[in-house]
Amino acid sequence: AKENGRSCYAFYQSEMTDLVKRDAELAHLLGSAQIRQQLYVEYQPQYSCRTRALEGGEALLRWRHPEQKIISPQVFIAIAEKRGMIDDIGLWVAQQVCSDASRWFSNQLEFGRISFNLSPVQLRSEEGMKALLQQVGESKVPLSCFEIEITESAYMDASPQTLALLDSYVSEGMGLAIDDFGTGYSSLVALRKLSVSRLKIDQSFVKDMLLDPNEALIVSATVSLGHALGLNVVAEGVETEEQLEKLCSLGCDSAQGYYLNRPMSAECFESLLQQKKQ
Ligand code: C2E
Ligand code: CA
Ligand code: CA
Ligand code: CA
Repeated sequence: AKENGRSCYAFYQSEMTDLVKRDAELAHLLGSAQIRQQLYVEYQPQYSCRTRALEGGEALLRWRHPEQKIISPQVFIAIAEKRGMIDDIGLWVAQQVCSDASRWFSNQLEFGRISFNLSPVQLRSEEGMKALLQQVGESKVPLSCFEIEITESAYMDASPQTLALLDSYVSEGMGLAIDDFGTGYSSLVALRKLSVSRLKIDQSFVKDMLLDPNEALIVSATVSLGHALGLNVVAEGVETEEQLEKLCSLGCDSAQGYYLNRPMSAECFESLLQQKKQ
């Protein structure tokens, strides 16, 4: 048993070393100059549950690493956070979103509202947030066409100054969504402290909703809570027609997921807007 224990330990150690090495490699690449050409933003459309009309889209960051193909944002964003690179990357995402949205806006393509994600680490930096929000505010697109998504726990770490700054943009029309709603532990405090405009039901609830009545109850309670507070409720991770119908019957406002569309390039999203116009 001892032998076994040691070999398990050895295995574990080499796994760890691999992880650390990979982390260091990715961090090095992330910090390098070529990275700008390898990052891009995809958009995943959101639709009204009831009318199935396009209402907007969520911007999702992608890294096309030359050898490792596509690396999940969950992996490289965590590295960027640890290495102090997330402010730069987050600002780049905001610039990208603003530039795409301006193009669509100038071409009179109705994209509804474009949302993008902010890392908790970004919310901790007042200067970073100032720069980012300024960027969004200076765009020729109305603030009401943008929405920021933050997770429930992210605001916990933000300073009162940063929250006040965020609030001032929200009061001028920018949307603020609580992402992965229901998976954190401080949901209700967040709702009380921030002027939130939207709840995003986490995909884990949508996934099990048709199998487990308790999950359906959570979805239904979230919709009721959101509506009681005057908020829009969107469900993510919708993968089947049945899920979409169930969400509609539970009163959920909007939906996003592979069943409707996978995240797509800015060009594809633009063609979708073109089609809609005709
Ligand atoms: P998220 O904000 O919860 O984004 C939703 C994730 O669910 C996306 O994964 C999306 O591609 C995926 N998804 C959408 N529809 C479906 C579906 O029907 N089924 C399933 N199984 N998945 C679906 P993605 O793009 O890999 O992003 C993962 C996470 O990385 C995001 O989760 C978000 O937390 C983070 N992220 C992505 N882009 C950014 C960014 O620009 N900045 C920051 N800070 N985080 C980002
Ligand atoms: Ca999100
Ligand atoms: Ca989410
Ligand atoms: Ca998530």
